[in-house]
Amino acid sequence: MSNYRPETICVQGGYTPGSGEPRQIPIIQSTTFKYATSEDMGKLFDLEASGYFYSRLQNPTCDYVAAKICALEGGTAAMLTSSGQAANFFALFNIATCGDHIVASSSIYGGTFNLIDVTMRKMGVEATFVAPDCTEEELNAAFRPNTKAVFGETIANPALTVLDIEKFARAAHSHGVPLIVDNTFATPVGCRPFEWGADIVTHSTTKYMDGHGAAVGGAIVDSGKFDWMAHADKFPGLCTPDDSYHGITYAEKFGKEGAFITKCTAQLMRDFGSTPSPQSAFYLNLGLESLHVRMARHCENGQAVAEFLAAHPKVETVHYCGLPGDPYHEVAKKYLPNGSCGVVSFELKGGRPAAEVFMGRLKLAAIETHVADARTCCLNPATSTHRQMTEEQLIAAGVPAGLVRMSCGLESKEDLIEDIKQALEAI
Ligand SMILES: *Cc1c(COP(=O)(O)O)cnc(C)c1O
Repeated sequence: MSNYRPETICVQGGYTPGSGEPRQIPIIQSTTFKYATSEDMGKLFDLEASGYFYSRLQNPTCDYVAAKICALEGGTAAMLTSSGQAANFFALFNIATCGDHIVASSSIYGGTFNLIDVTMRKMGVEATFVAPDCTEEELNAAFRPNTKAVFGETIANPALTVLDIEKFARAAHSHGVPLIVDNTFATPVGCRPFEWGADIVTHSTTKYMDGHGAAVGGAIVDSGKFDWMAHADKFPGLCTPDDSYHGITYAEKFGKEGAFITKCTAQLMRDFGSTPSPQSAFYLNLGLESLHVRMARHCENGQAVAEFLAAHPKVETVHYCGLPGDPYHEVAKKYLPNGSCGVVSFELKGGRPAAEVFMGRLKLAAIETHVADARTCCLNPATSTHRQMTEEQLIAAGVPAGLVRMSCGLESKEDLIEDIKQALEAI
């Protein structure tokens, strides 16, 4: 499937029924799977044979959908998780544990910032944050001997900065570690980070991939390109025997193509159990079938709304890389030639109080803790998703207190603009 274009993979990737089998992916709503002998099942436990035994680890419905996302990103292996948070945590913790260090872009989703800056620190994983547009020297200076991964978001939620993936990949590789890119906002329809040197891609599938606000979920995809064995001293979890799996060495047994996802499934999914339900994976697949059609419309509406806001006297600044004056316009032309996404961030003259009046008057755009859905919605990150951050952290993340994040849905762009216009008049 991966030799087809993204549009075709969106519709048909991941699952090819045989004669007389269901056309739509079957929902295998079963916790467990039956075997003829204990010996047959034992081979699965030892990772000697592949197959299903318990849905906390793997389920066929989830695997069909993971295979579609894998093909869309051009990877070699992928897994679904129950949320985007679980995907990012697993992707990092799979290689960075107690005593290790991570370099991360400071411009990332508030939940991921909290995960890295608070929760993973409590687990003994240190982190250094760098501005997404830092120089190569600043970026290289952030590394330590115990650095195990570099992390960034293609298009950051909600600051909408665009990551210079090649710059981050160069720095990561020159220090012998992989680059992990959260590709949630761009989706593989807009950008395929592996083509620019990223090694692992993560997703909150809750956003555009689902696209209808139906199911929370996440995904991790491996490019299969990072050579763990070449840096075996840094990655003992992948390159030395795993006692909890009868002495398997993942990088030896599953190679570059499969080691990362196999370890992540066999250890982290086994122990933490952030498993998506087959039913949720089915909903996700329905969303993926139209992802390529929807993304074009989200981008068109985002562009139209951004242009309208930028020309309005009551608007202070608009952040949207599709606007020629935006600091990320040039980077976006390189990494996102087909458009970025439907999310537009802006500050109104009058700051937070003006934002409150404006948001209260909107009729079509509902106030929601959500983005990337068919229905337009908006949010003030400082009082919601980024509530735990200090004033300085908010500035570093590119999220000033009066920022409004609007996620343009699939409605008529004329109706959206009329709604915004009447709400601006109320200020
Ligand atoms: C929403 C989001 C997450 C977290 O995903 P959940 O599915 O809500 O757990 C992570 N990264 C980005 C970029 C997001 O937008």
